[in-house]
Amino acid sequence: MQIECRENYEIKTHTSFKIGGKVNKVWFPKTQEELVYLLKSLKDYILLGNCSNILFSSNGYDGNVILTTQMKNFEIDGTKVIADCGVKGPLLSQKACEASLSGFEFMIGFPGSIGGEIYMNASCHGQCISDKLVRCTLFDIEKKEVVYKEKSEMRFDYRKSILQEGKYILISAEFDLEKDNKGDIQARIDKNLAFRKDKQPSLAIPNAGSVFKNPENDSAGRLLDNIGAKTFETERVKVFDKHANFIVNKDGATSEDVLEMMVKMFTAVKENYKIELTPEVIFIGDKTEKEEELCKILYPKKQK
Ligand SMILES: Cc1cc2nc3c(=O)[nH]c(=O)nc-3n(C[C@H](O)[C@H](O)[C@H](O)COP(=O)(O)OP(=O)(O)OC[C@H]3O[C@@H](n4cnc5c(N)ncnc54)[C@H](O)[C@@H]3O)c2cc1C
Repeated sequence: MQIECRENYEIKTHTSFKIGGKVNKVWFPKTQEELVYLLKSLKDYILLGNCSNILFSSNGYDGNVILTTQMKNFEIDGTKVIADCGVKGPLLSQKACEASLSGFEFMIGFPGSIGGEIYMNASCHGQCISDKLVRCTLFDIEKKEVVYKEKSEMRFDYRKSILQEGKYILISAEFDLEKDNKGDIQARIDKNLAFRKDKQPSLAIPNAGSVFKNPENDSAGRLLDNIGAKTFETERVKVFDKHANFIVNKDGATSEDVLEMMVKMFTAVKENYKIELTPEVIFIGDKTEKEEELCKILYPKKQK
């Protein structure tokens, strides 16, 4: 099977942070068959979607990365929506609206793929990717075969799903949305977009969404705001001035610049509130020595 592959690929052209070094081989499957073929034949790989929740090491990665962004197939049949893992959330949100289907309005404002959204159980504006999910088609990494799981088997929780246990890759997902008035759905989409514009950096300012998860019954943004994080700035990165839980790449930042800023934010919250924030942004790639040290503070559990 001939599958598109680029060697020595500058992954930063693909990440929402515009950070990341060279990757030995990047694979771009277009269909489920191509993805399954790769998953069966590559010994080792990192699979990513739209790279909007990751910090990729500027040191690069000496291995295989599978990017699902060319897997763009989806179908809408009545209230049923079936989408490949690479389909982008904002596109599906708009297509669902055109079909007078409600349930995906929240997806409009952030650039995740369906695979990345299910991995993180992405949510906002009172909606969540798992709300309307029915079942998933997965690849079982150990057995090297395609399996099916109902929503109840996906172990969803706040920013959690079974995919984080490292045993499965999402191939596609089936949802059951609700019929509604198209104008009302569009109005909710517009409201969500207006909220984003007012409170969060646009993608023209490279970032990877919320840096830390919300601690139980609190908000990471509130804690960070209280300790004055909005004033934190270095030569190449800064905390976004309208939301203290976002780091933006001012120009030419490296992954070390971001990790250092994350440690500064983490330490200030720990000292002031005795709370250890958990990063929402996922670090990926071959670490430098300094990155090893910084990641030990931020990610005490093993990273990819
Ligand atoms: C401006 C901005 C705003 C954001 N706002 C929000 C928000 O409001 N709510 C929210 O929840 N998130 C938000 N995010 C974060 C991010 O967009 C989401 O987490 C999104 O779900 C990530 O999807 P992705 O395709 O980019 O995943 P990636 O960043 O490519 O990958 C994230 C993780 O998912 C895994 N993964 C990806 N595809 C698959 C698959 N097919 N099978 C198994 N694992 C897979 C990867 O291995 C990786 O560990 C925001 C990001 C930005 C830049």
